[in-house]
Amino acid sequence: MQLYLYNTLAHKKEKFEPINPPFVGMYVCGPTVYNDVHLGNVRTFIAFDVIFRYLNHLGYKVRYVRNITDAGHLEDESDEDKISKRAKLERLEPMEIVQKYTVSFHEIMRIFNVLPPSIEPTATGHILEQQEMAMQILKNGWAYEVNGTVYFDVEKFAQQYNYTALTGRNLEELLNNTRELDGQDEKRGRLDFALWIKAKPQHLMQWNSPWGRGFPGWHIECSAMSTKYLGEEFDIHGGGMDLAPTHHTNEIAQNIAYCGKSPARYWLHTNMLTLNGKKMSKSLGNVVLPLELISGNNPLIPKGFSPAVIRFFMMQTHYRSTLDITLDALNAAEKGYYRLLESFSSLDNIVSSDTSDINLSELKQKCYNAMNDDFNTAVLVAELFEISKIINKAAEKQIKITAKDIEELKKLFQVFFYEILGIPPSEANNESWMKKIKTLVDILIDIRSEAKKNKNYILSDKIRNQMESVGILIKDTPEGTKWSIK
Ligand code: AMP
Ligand code: ZN
Repeated sequence: MQLYLYNTLAHKKEKFEPINPPFVGMYVCGPTVYNDVHLGNVRTFIAFDVIFRYLNHLGYKVRYVRNITDAGHLEDESDEDKISKRAKLERLEPMEIVQKYTVSFHEIMRIFNVLPPSIEPTATGHILEQQEMAMQILKNGWAYEVNGTVYFDVEKFAQQYNYTALTGRNLEELLNNTRELDGQDEKRGRLDFALWIKAKPQHLMQWNSPWGRGFPGWHIECSAMSTKYLGEEFDIHGGGMDLAPTHHTNEIAQNIAYCGKSPARYWLHTNMLTLNGKKMSKSLGNVVLPLELISGNNPLIPKGFSPAVIRFFMMQTHYRSTLDITLDALNAAEKGYYRLLESFSSLDNIVSSDTSDINLSELKQKCYNAMNDDFNTAVLVAELFEISKIINKAAEKQIKITAKDIEELKKLFQVFFYEILGIPPSEANNESWMKKIKTLVDILIDIRSEAKKNKNYILSDKIRNQMESVGILIKDTPEGTKWSIK
């Protein structure tokens, strides 16, 4: 069994061959904790959670590093840090903003059953490492300092290396599409980006550095932290597709400028979650927050869905395809989710035979084939639906199945649905069902009392006996009728 994955850097599907098996190093760009994560962000983190889960399932020992950006991420077209800006707006300490949104991010991850990474480093916790890396890049001649800010020299780098290797973009075109420098600019080239930024006195987050007080550029944090925890060369680097042209392109350039090595062998990129065909993003104002979708509290999708249904909905699309979120699609996913659950839970009631009409190892192999083909959860879900059709036939006694195969199918569902796709077990559902069942028992007891009052003992006995036959015992006491579970 061989795992293949689509490597953005190679622009094709490749065999997965870790540098040092069974160990696998994986780095994924985490959230900038200046506001609540939206469903688009959640899609990306769930996609990498599935990849993490599947690699673990295959027996790899994965060190999964997913950072928290708590400094240095500049607001587009401004020289202000997103967190500092938010702190000023909310009149809080920047670290209060960071704390608040890190806690809420973790809560959302827990609700969607996303496993915690092995290491979750923060930019503010690695200021020294970022300075040291910038220093080395300067020493190696790939950067220059102007007035307390250190810039990466992209045009010089591009003369020796393929700067746009990740996207395959044409450098000339890129240059032509980038704003021309004006007289105010300190940069030498229009594609140059900052490794370290001089802080204005009013900037809330700033540190001492060899170049005066300032703060790190955004891209350098991921280079510094991936190198620190996974080494100069590691296996997988991931993030949303929107990060490839700038953030990840610059990360690769920094790492090569730092030590001559491209950091990751395989670059994986998740495609965007869209709403009515438009990328979900704060700047477009079409954001749906996870808790809003769960409670049904957003006018864009005015119905609540359980975290399990939302995650299942996302699994029905391959991570490299865009996923358009609509009420209809969610409703369809919800139906499908319950159909699958029902079918697999009916395994408990199927009468087994001595022989089996199904080829279990073939079914299992199909599930593995789906995941081994670049983690294709969409195909896996389709296979699970095919299997559910077979189960339904067995339940209707159209085909035979052995007790062993019934157990194997239960295991298969457990492994692929819960452990690999990571669908949250529906505790909430169980609870609400328990409530409904209790109410039903009370209704039956009421009807029985009524029957007894009317001397309809045939009916009252029938109710008691039949309830007993499903394990609910009824006892008449001087304080009224009590019930218990056998
Ligand atoms: P940010 O906090 O903006 O840095 O984003 C965190 C992660 O979410 C990054 O990997 C982004 O690429 C990803 N992301 C942002 N918007 C979307 C979207 N609409 N769909 C999928 N992923 C997204
Ligand atoms: Zn990053």
